[in-house]
Amino acid sequence: MENLEVSSPLIAISPLVLSSKIKQNFFGLTLSDLENILQGMGKEKFRAQQLFKWVYEKRTFDFSQMSNLAKNFRDELPLFIDLSLPKVIKHLKSVDGTQKFLFDVGDGESVESVLIPSDDRLTLCISSEVGCNMACKFCFTAKQKLKKRLTAADIVGQFLQVSLLLNPDQRISNIVFMGMGEPLDNPDEVFKAIEILHSDWGMNVSRKKITVSTSGLVPEMWRVAHAKVRLAVSLNGYNDEVRSQVMPINKKYPLKDLLAACREYYKETKEKITFEYVLLQGITDSIEAARALHKLTRSIPCKINIIPFNEHPDSGFHRPSDETVKAFQQELTFLGSQVLLRKTMGRDIFAACGQLNATYKKKN
Ligand code: SF4
Repeated sequence: MENLEVSSPLIAISPLVLSSKIKQNFFGLTLSDLENILQGMGKEKFRAQQLFKWVYEKRTFDFSQMSNLAKNFRDELPLFIDLSLPKVIKHLKSVDGTQKFLFDVGDGESVESVLIPSDDRLTLCISSEVGCNMACKFCFTAKQKLKKRLTAADIVGQFLQVSLLLNPDQRISNIVFMGMGEPLDNPDEVFKAIEILHSDWGMNVSRKKITVSTSGLVPEMWRVAHAKVRLAVSLNGYNDEVRSQVMPINKKYPLKDLLAACREYYKETKEKITFEYVLLQGITDSIEAARALHKLTRSIPCKINIIPFNEHPDSGFHRPSDETVKAFQQELTFLGSQVLLRKTMGRDIFAACGQLNATYKKKN
């Protein structure tokens, strides 16, 4: 057979067209990411600081409005960088002041953020994943298996969108990664988002006001200390048997390993750890449980947040009576633990994490 050599015609593709194919979302860019993009465009590195200033300080989300940049630079930027934020598809306000936001994060998926006011702070609870694979038995989000890990842009976008909806005299003071998903199951994007949130070129939120909460993914916990942000651990069990029953991750990383990682965090940061402890009727709420919990945590500088279970359909768990909750709290306090009773907020707006998302999906 004749060997036919077919030479394909050379098509000249402009570098701008090529680069636009890998357009990146601005809200997922760190300073060095943006500098690299600018260098690729043949621009000076210092332009990155100028762009961050326009977006994060002056809240300008349109390159054409950035008046101190040359016109041709402003025209080129949208070919490389996308300035779109996740869209708010639902916004609910509770009678107690709590607000819930549902965000479209693409691929037909959505996540929730919750804004929680208290006397001295305004806390935003952020999601890191759509669904979750950790399978905690009491958790509503766990029913929606992991569908998507969010990008840093999706995470920063939640913070920025909520900030834009606040009254001029309001400011989010604290950020907690306690929404949908296990943040340490998506560590690269979560810690990139944290860098953008705390850096002075970014959103400038103090590291001490950012908390990462984990179900106990021990191998990734060092990253919380490394980022110098606060650590919260969802404990929910006073021994391995009970914890493994409600949190299957405990079978892989039992209490001995989890508490060793907590000690390591304290050694590195000298910051107290917050242990979260959900009170489940007949499972984690007895006086003996309170005593065992104190014994387990007393050698670690910490505070314990006790959270009476927030009932949701088909969970199979119940909320203990107010008397049981009080007795549990009193026992821990009597033994010398620093305890805080977390109030259930936003009961009228699908308080359980992931509930608003599930309800929205059922309807649409
Ligand atoms: S409690 Fe957190 S880690 Fe556990 S399943 Fe729910 S979202 Fe995941």
